[in-house]
Amino acid sequence: MTDLATHQAKLAGHLARFRAGGILNLIDGQDVAGQDWFETRSPVDESLIARVALGTAETVDRAAQAATAAFQAWASLPGTARKAILHRIADGIEARAEEIALCECWDTGQAWRFMSKAALRGAENFRFFADLAPGARDGKSLPTPDHLNVNSRHPIGPVGVITPWNTPFMLSTWKIAPALAAGCTVVHKPAEFSPLTARLLAEICHEAGLPPGVLNLVNGMGEGAGRALTEHPDIRAIAFVGESRTGSAIMRQGAETLKRVHFELGGKNPVIVFDDADLDRALDAAIFMIYSLNGERCTSSSRLLVQDSIADSFHARLVERVNRIRVGHPLDPATEVGPLIHETHFDKVASYVALGQAEGATLAAGGTRVGETGWFLRPTLFTEARPDMRIAQEEVFGPFLTSIRFKDEAEALSIANGVAYGLTGYVWTNDLTRALRFSDRLEAGMIWVNSENVRHLPTPFGGVKASGIGRDGGDWSFEFYMEQKNVAFALGSHKIPRLGV
Ligand code: NAD
Repeated sequence: MTDLATHQAKLAGHLARFRAGGILNLIDGQDVAGQDWFETRSPVDESLIARVALGTAETVDRAAQAATAAFQAWASLPGTARKAILHRIADGIEARAEEIALCECWDTGQAWRFMSKAALRGAENFRFFADLAPGARDGKSLPTPDHLNVNSRHPIGPVGVITPWNTPFMLSTWKIAPALAAGCTVVHKPAEFSPLTARLLAEICHEAGLPPGVLNLVNGMGEGAGRALTEHPDIRAIAFVGESRTGSAIMRQGAETLKRVHFELGGKNPVIVFDDADLDRALDAAIFMIYSLNGERCTSSSRLLVQDSIADSFHARLVERVNRIRVGHPLDPATEVGPLIHETHFDKVASYVALGQAEGATLAAGGTRVGETGWFLRPTLFTEARPDMRIAQEEVFGPFLTSIRFKDEAEALSIANGVAYGLTGYVWTNDLTRALRFSDRLEAGMIWVNSENVRHLPTPFGGVKASGIGRDGGDWSFEFYMEQKNVAFALGSHKIPRLGV
C-alpha cells in the first residue's frame, strides 16, 4: 500500500529512534554526540523531527584524523574488494529504499513520486562506480626510443564532501560512491536542513562492511563544520554541491591548504522553444523540468524562451496546466509539488514573486502561499519578462518559471547566454541544422535537444561559468579523486649530459 496514511505510519516507525536519541555523527565507525545540538524540522508542518549532534571544528578534526588513519588500508585494497563492498552498499540502499524515501520526503518536502525513485538512483550510483573500481588505477604506457613511460592513477587521500538539501541522498551517493571506488576516504558534511538520510547512508555503508574511518559523517553548520572541513590540512580535496557564492567562499577558505575543488553550483537554465518544435512534448518537458522536485533542482529549466509566433498559445496551455499541478503532502503519492524546504527559503522564493510584479512581468499563475502551516507555494509562472529582469537572471530555486519571448534564433541565443550561469540548456526544434548550430553556441555544460534532463551516468555532468568547476560521471569523477603518476624507465642507451668532465 502506498497511500498517505500508510506512509505516515511507516515513517513514524522509522523516526522513533531518532526522536529518542537524536541524529548522531558517525566517526571511525562510532556514534558521536556533540556538545550541542541543532534541530531538523519538517517543512510540512514545522514539527520537530529530531535534534542533531552539532559538529564543530574539533569534531571535523577527529573525523579527518579517522579518515587519514583509514586511508592507506582502503587505498591499497584491490579494486575488486572495493567493488564488492560498494555493491553490498547498493544492496543495502535497495533494501531500505522505502525508509530512505519516506525520511527524505518528510525532511525536505520533496514529493514521494520523485523520492521513491531517487533512493533507487542512489543504489545505481553505487553499482555504477563499483564496477569501475577495479580499473580506476589504470593508466597508459607511453614509450619513446629511450624511455618507457608508464602512468597510473592513485587516490588523492582523505576528501571532504559537502552537500546541499535538495535531493540530498541521491546527491550524496553521487559524490561519495566515486570517492570510495577511487580509494579515497571521506568526511561528509550534509546540509543542516536535511541531515536524516545522510545518517541512513552512513549506517548502510558500515553495515555493508565499509571499514571504520573510510566514511565519516559530521553534521553541522556551513560556517562551522563546513568551513573547518575546507580548511583542514589533512583533507586533500573538497567535492561541493551548493550555491555559487558558497563555492567562492570555499575556494577562499581552501586556498591556504591548496585544496583541489570540484564545484556543482547554481543554474538559471533556459528551455528554448522554437515554433517548429513538437509543442506537446515541449510543453510536458518544460513543465516537468521546473515544477518537479519543487523546482529545487539545479538543472531546472527556470527560464522559458518561447518564440513570438507561438508564445500566446503556448502560454495559454502552460497556465492551464500549471494551475492544475497538485500541491500537497509530500508523502501523498498523488502530490506533484510539496512544501519548500524551510521558512527562510520560502521567504526568498516569495520575495521573487513580489520582485517580478515590481519589475513589470505578468504573474500568470500561482505566487501565493497554500495553507497557513508549512511552506507550500502555489506553482508560479511569470510571462512577458524581459531578459534583464532579476527574475530572469537570478536563481530562485523553487516552483517558479520566468517566460521571455524571442523573435529569432540570434535573439534566443543572446538571451540564453546572457546570464552568469551555464549548467544546462534544453533546445526544442525539429530543424536539425538549427539544433546543431544552437547547441554548439549555447553556453552550458549539458544540453538536451528535444528532451527533458535524462541522466546517463557515463556522461560528464557539470556546468560552465558560475555553474561549476569540474565534471562528474564515469572517468571524470576519478580524475578529481585521483592523482596521475608517471614513471619513466630508461632503456639504458640514451645520452646523459655530462657536466664537470
Ligand atoms: P548552500 O551553498 O547554501 O549549502 C550547501 C552546503 O554547503 C551545505 O552543507 C552548507 O552547510 C555548506 N556550507 C555553507 N557555507 C559554507 C562554508 N562557508 N564553508 C563550507 N561549507 C559551507 O546550498 P543549498 O542552499 O544547500 O543548496 C542549493 C544550491 O545548490 C542551489 O544553488 C543549487 O543550484 C545548487 N545545486 C547544484 C547542483 C549541481 O549539480 N550543479 C546540484 C544540486 C544543487
